[in-house]
Formats: sequence, structure tokens, C-alpha cells
Amino acid sequence: MEFLASVDTGPAGRRGLAEALAPELRLSAREVETRIQVAVDLRRRMPGVLAAMRAGLMDGYGARRVLQVTAPLSDEHARQVDALLADKLADAAVSTWQPVNMARCVARLVEQVDPGGHAARARQANAGRRVELQHGEHAQSRLTVDLRSEVASACYARVDAMARRLRRHGETRTLDQLRADVTADLLLGNDPGVTVPEAAALVYVHLPVDAALTMSDAGCELDGYGPIPAPVAREIMTNPHSTLRTVLCDPATGDPVDLGRTRRRPSAAMRELVRVRDRECTVPWCHRPARHCDIDHQAEWAAHHGPTSVANTAPRCRRHHRLKNAPGWTARHNPARGTTAITTPTGATYTGRRTPILTPNSTSTAARSRPDPNEPPPF
Ligand SMILES: [Zn+2]
Repeated sequence: MEFLASVDTGPAGRRGLAEALAPELRLSAREVETRIQVAVDLRRRMPGVLAAMRAGLMDGYGARRVLQVTAPLSDEHARQVDALLADKLADAAVSTWQPVNMARCVARLVEQVDPGGHAARARQANAGRRVELQHGEHAQSRLTVDLRSEVASACYARVDAMARRLRRHGETRTLDQLRADVTADLLLGNDPGVTVPEAAALVYVHLPVDAALTMSDAGCELDGYGPIPAPVAREIMTNPHSTLRTVLCDPATGDPVDLGRTRRRPSAAMRELVRVRDRECTVPWCHRPARHCDIDHQAEWAAHHGPTSVANTAPRCRRHHRLKNAPGWTARHNPARGTTAITTPTGATYTGRRTPILTPNSTSTAARSRPDPNEPPPF
């Protein structure tokens, strides 16, 4: 990386340099050009990430993910994100370094340093929405649609819910096959032969009360994705035909205060609150959405006939629910604090912490803009 950055002579000569280096590096000229660009961007915009790579803590793939997330920022804002990220990573859990977790963490920092630019960035990215048909091998082709994240999430949730319902009614096709077939049926105007209630395909948008009241533009999140611009979240909240569900959150604690619905049985309401609060499987490197997870009682509570309450339960995907009781695996989870410690059969222990829906702002604004180094890491 540092070699590539050091030989670069600027954008004008970059293509020629890439052509010259390509045979030596045994890569395509285009790949060499990309790597030079990455190296130059890291040195100019993200020296902390470059230092982490030098220390062997991050690989090229992780660094590219960070660069993609910070790409729309000015150099100054990018360097601010880099400094905040270095602070955050100084004592972060190992799972924070995994590319998906890292990208989410960086997305929150981007919103923090440039909250005003969020809506503009989203608008600019949305202008590039498109449908693409790519022909592949073995008589298979791929159809991709670029959409706003909340639209894509709602589409996927509905297709997924339909596929799952078909699967329960004796289908032999796999879920992947069913989702593909249901999508094709819907696009071609054919009846997929199944309907799902709205609740089965719900996607949540978390909105701090002050953002809902347009007093702030920070802290709006789409489940399974991350921060979204406040104007988009408010539009979803006020649109009576939206298939997305808005969850209002307390800006002081970051906890959900209102699910926007009153007529729910307590147990169903509780399960829903746990899913809304934890959002994903509690294993720090698993991002399975909570709506497809089991609501797991903590063993020690079950043994002591602990109450089935929000404070005693957490979502755990089927795979990790089974793994919890497998030989050599131990899992300790504190649902109230959102902390998890998992010991694998190799004896290594990994700790993680639920990312709060919002950054609580009950402390001073100074403390918010600069994270307390004594705070536990977010994952
Ligand atoms: Zn899991």
C-alpha cells in the first residue's frame, strides 16, 4: 500500500503507472489502478486506518469497505472519521474489526461528523438507482435492482414472508428457490399463490422523538441497515400507506418508547419489544434479523423459573440457539445491558455489546461528540 502510494505521481499519470506495474504485480491494470487509488486515499484521508493495516489489525478488504463508506465526505470530514475510528478501535472487541461491523460503525461516524450531508448523500446515491440484467453461465442470469434501502428492505421482507409461508405449507423448494420464484411471479404479474399479513413482512425504522418532531436530524435507523436520513424517516412515519413501521425512541436512553400500536397481547408485545430492542441475533458476529430468531430465555433464569420478561430474554438465531448448548460452547448474555460473552471450543472468549438504537444524549454534548474511552466497545 505504502509503496503504491509513494510511486503515485497524481491522477494524470496513474493509468500509465498501473499499466507498467500490472505484469510485475500479476494483476490486471484496472486492479492495480484501483489499488493505487486506495493507497493514495488511505494516506491522504485515513492515516489511522493505514496505521491499523501496518499493525496487521486490518486487511485490504476491510480498508476498502471503510473507504467506500467515507467516499462522499470531504477530506477534512474523512480525517475526522479516521480519528474517531482510531479512538473507538483502541479498545474495541475483536468482532468490531469484522468488515460488516466496521462498515456499520464507520457509517455512524460519518453521520456524526457530517449530519447535514446525510440527506444530500442519500439523494445523490438514489439518483443512480437502476435495474440491471447480467447474463451468467449455465443458462442462468441475474436481475438486480438498486433502490432506496427502506424500499429494498420492505420488498425483501415481503418476498421472504411469502416464501416462508409457502414453505410451511408443504413446499419442497428451498427458501432461496421460493424467494426467487415469488419475486419472478410478482414482477410478471402472476399470482404467487400466497398472501401474507402486513405484520409478517414488517421492517422497522427507529426514530428518536426529537427527530420525529423535526427538532433534530440525528439518530434515525433502518433495521438491518443502519443510519438513514431523518427526512426519509419522517416521510415513512407520516405516510399512511407505508409498509414500514416507525418505532419512536427516547433520545435520552436510546430505548424504544412506543411501538405505535396498542392492541397487542402482552406476550406478543414483549416478544416484539425484545426483537425491536436487540434487532439481531445476540452473537456479536451474526447479523440475522431478530424477526427470524428464537426468543431465547437465559439458562440461569429458566433454572430459577425466572419470569418471561423483556429483561430475561434475547433473540438468538436457530443456528446459534443450538450452538449455545453444544459441547465446548458457553454463552453468557445480559439482556438488560445488551452484553454478550461467548467462549468457543478453542477456549477463546469473545465479548460484544448491543449497539444502542441511538447514541444516548443525556450526558453533555461534549461527551457525545468525543466518545468516552472508558465506555465499553459497541460490539
Ligand atoms: Zn446468530
